[in-house]
Amino acid sequence: MFGFFPAQGGLTLKIAVCPGSFDPVTFGHLDIIERSAKLFDHIYIAVLQNPGKMPLFSVEERLAMLERASSHLDNVSVETFSGLTVDYAQHKQANAIIRGLRAVTDFEFEFKLAAMNRQLNSHVETVFMMTCSEYSFLSSSAVKEVASMGGDVSRWVEPYVAEQLYSKFSQGRGESRT
Ligand code: ADP
Repeated sequence: MFGFFPAQGGLTLKIAVCPGSFDPVTFGHLDIIERSAKLFDHIYIAVLQNPGKMPLFSVEERLAMLERASSHLDNVSVETFSGLTVDYAQHKQANAIIRGLRAVTDFEFEFKLAAMNRQLNSHVETVFMMTCSEYSFLSSSAVKEVASMGGDVSRWVEPYVAEQLYSKFSQGRGESRT
């Protein structure tokens, strides 16, 4: 049976996937991940491979930044996937997909996505975490825009993420596209 799956000793594990672009990881993402890690036995942060989105950072770069940012969380691992999130969740025997909600503007998109995912696989619940007020406006795209103009992004991302952002933009390669 799919759902909460038994662990050794008859316990059940609550497993969740936290999918996204993470281009790059921000303190808003980390806030959601840290809070989810307290609710679930294991969290898979899942970097979506979506060539259509033309990310600034490669999948490998995003994975490396996420691994570093989440290294203090024992029950969190970082992976990449392509295809449907519900299929990935089932593959990982996850019961839930975690999504962050920032503003009312996120709601309509997330509502549709959750409804579609439920129709695709009714065994996987979408769980929404409200952003903390400090990061309610924060998005990877806003951070990229500020960094592309040389602005200070240290309030929103880890120092090594900021360094990589400035390095990308100083190479003149990156542009904010997501
Ligand atoms: P996606 O392209 O799937 O939206 P993102 O990397 O933008 O990928 O976001 C991944 C997840 O993190 C989404 O559920 C998004 O709502 C959430 N998220 C992003 N930024 C914040 C934030 N500042 N506060 C709360 N949740 C956030």
